[in-house]
Amino acid sequence: MERIDGHTLLIGLMAYPIRHSMSPTMHNNAFAKLGLNYAYLAFEIDNDKLEKAVDAIRTLDMRGSNVSMPNKQKIIPYLDKLDPAAKMAGAVNTVVNDNGVLTGYTTDGTGFMKSLADEGLDIRGKKMTLAGAGGAGTPIAIQAALDGVKEISIFNLDDAQWEQAEKNVEIINRETDCKATLHHLEDKEDFKKEIASSYIYCDATGVGMKPLENMTLVEDPSWFHKDMIVFDTVYAPRETKLMKVAKEAGVDHVLNGLGMMLEQGAEAFKLWTGEDMPVDYIRELLF
Ligand code: NAD
Repeated sequence: MERIDGHTLLIGLMAYPIRHSMSPTMHNNAFAKLGLNYAYLAFEIDNDKLEKAVDAIRTLDMRGSNVSMPNKQKIIPYLDKLDPAAKMAGAVNTVVNDNGVLTGYTTDGTGFMKSLADEGLDIRGKKMTLAGAGGAGTPIAIQAALDGVKEISIFNLDDAQWEQAEKNVEIINRETDCKATLHHLEDKEDFKKEIASSYIYCDATGVGMKPLENMTLVEDPSWFHKDMIVFDTVYAPRETKLMKVAKEAGVDHVLNGLGMMLEQGAEAFKLWTGEDMPVDYIRELLF
């Protein structure tokens, strides 16, 4: 409370639904810890109110905003500039307001890469198999390719997201040195073969969290090898069925999405404030 005064700068979160989000608690505790004069509030904004809400960032001279579903793609026409990774992913999760000029960033991919680095893991020059091409899978694939992952095999169902998966593969092959290929998730033999030759398997589908709790795309531990990384973007529950299967296989590094969640927030925090989020303090406090 003592932090809030006439100079406090507002940062928003625009999504629907959003009341469950951990981001307000994460950012406000980090501001308080560092004595920074910002306040972070969640606003329930659907596509229909988005344009006016983005205008309000300028009108109210807010420092910026996070953006989540269903606005990550829809917000792009209302912004002035895009960071290269956000442009490639066609999605934004962070907006920064510099004197009325709004720039869109995506920090999910950098958060993913940073969360691996926090564990002492480096996937540059290696092969990744990735399931999913949605709001999480797309920035993960783009950032991994930009950062120097050598090969990415993307698996998706033949569903609404297939077209996005095609776009991801096309843009990665055109704009980076990474070789991306697209595969059908229904082809289990192919899926098994690609995982076997990968250093990291990442599931960005949400299978394993409600309403698909206790489900996993890989049920057989023999698909994994010990000296690999198995990464699930899900963080509720903390241990998914996929992670249990990987542990049963004796996989060295089995990670949930908490680190990614924390680091995508830390990247946005740095963009707004110029300061490093006290991630160890926040991890201790929230997780
Ligand atoms: P999305 O709806 O945008 O995309 C879902 C993807 O999963 C699509 O590619 C879709 O084809 C695929 N999919 C959906 N149902 C499937 C099924 N039954 N079998 C196989 N594939 C299926 O969702 P999203 O925003 O990308 O989120 C995906 C997961 O990532 C969620 O669990 C979300 O909580 C998590 N996530 C975590 C973080 C983090 O910071 N840790 C950030 C964003 C999202």
